Amino acid sequence: MNKKYKRGFVAGMFDVLHGGHIDLLRIAKENCEHLIVAVGTDEFYRVRKGREPFLSYPDRVEIIRAIRYVDEVVEETDLNKVALYKKHHFDAMFAGDDHEFEDVYVQAVKILKEFGVDTIYTPRRGINSTDLQKKFLNGNSNSNINKLPVLINWSLTERCNLNCGFCFRFHDKELPSDKMKIVLEKIVKSGVRRVTLTGGEPTLVNGLESIAEKLRYAGIFVSLHTNGMNVDYVKKNYFHFDRISLSLDGLNSFVNKIMRGHDDYFEKIMDLIMFLKENKRDFAIKTTVTKKNIDSILDMVDFINDIKPTFWSLFEFLPLENGKLNKDDYLLNDGEFNGLISKIKCDVTLNTMSLIEASGYPMFSVAANGEVYTKDGENGKISVGSLLDNETNVEIIWAKIIKKNKIEEKYINRWNIIQNVPRF
Ligand code: SF4
Repeated sequence: MNKKYKRGFVAGMFDVLHGGHIDLLRIAKENCEHLIVAVGTDEFYRVRKGREPFLSYPDRVEIIRAIRYVDEVVEETDLNKVALYKKHHFDAMFAGDDHEFEDVYVQAVKILKEFGVDTIYTPRRGINSTDLQKKFLNGNSNSNINKLPVLINWSLTERCNLNCGFCFRFHDKELPSDKMKIVLEKIVKSGVRRVTLTGGEPTLVNGLESIAEKLRYAGIFVSLHTNGMNVDYVKKNYFHFDRISLSLDGLNSFVNKIMRGHDDYFEKIMDLIMFLKENKRDFAIKTTVTKKNIDSILDMVDFINDIKPTFWSLFEFLPLENGKLNKDDYLLNDGEFNGLISKIKCDVTLNTMSLIEASGYPMFSVAANGEVYTKDGENGKISVGSLLDNETNVEIIWAKIIKKNKIEEKYINRWNIIQNVPRF
């Protein structure tokens, strides 16, 4: 029987093989006479995922070779699909539809089309490799995850397009792109599994979507925390992020204006919430509670239950850094915040800073200058190192935080319980 394509092509790590891989290879073979499969080498795997594969390259090649749909196995050493085309001259590339919006595929598909190569995305079935690998890691007490935080909160910039009175950022601090790249590489190599990109306002940073894709390509779950003012950016680039967190401080224009100082703030956020819902994207809502909006928070509960974000986080205003200047306008009375929380009946996961701290959530924040700070009883905060320092990396910083706070036991014992909780 004549098939539509002469030479089909599939690329993957295949660590470890699952039903979705077999579906992909079967569909590819049904549509081509000769199926070439490129398997990522161990070195490529380490760069992309930041850790060792479960199965070595020779083992993975052996397994793929044994599958009846596969005619030829070749090696993949980087993400360049066009270079692979030039070497193996296929006329169709097949990939799971979970890759459809990844930068590397979007770019490659455009160029391959010019060479007359079609790309066919096949529906993903059941679990994917990344989720499967997470399951293995969770159940593996010898894995290195106890040596790492679950989450890194990376403040890319202190620039912002708003100037909220309760904000505690410093102003106008941001690393040049070459230094930002050093921090990025260290996070990618660390093996950490979740990163939140925040600010200031992170959508003001040039190349934000490339930073996100580089992290995602290493198997990291990437959240973007934005104030939502840059609506066009979010609508154009939402697919570069696994989750988008939006700030919303009440359920009408008036309260959002007194909190954020912008006339259209509420309308912009509502527009984005609807957009993300229509596109079935993972999104979260963050609310800062101050003296100015505390009376409006209970009005939000029905709305939150209705739109069902992945979670709703409520943060009490703290008079830190620049926030000290306006503390009389925003600071709540003792007990007011906890009183509010006790009244909220919510179907959606509710996070508050006090709950997060009480759970010992294993995370740290990288400031916009590359430094990592931890709490210090006497001085408020203290630097435990900079990711720009040649001698330092994520593991070293995490070890210092654990030692300083004497919390090793707490973190390690809670690790398996909380690492999949969708916080932040
Ligand atoms: S949007 Fe966030 S970063 Fe920007 S000024 Fe307001 S609180 Fe600060």
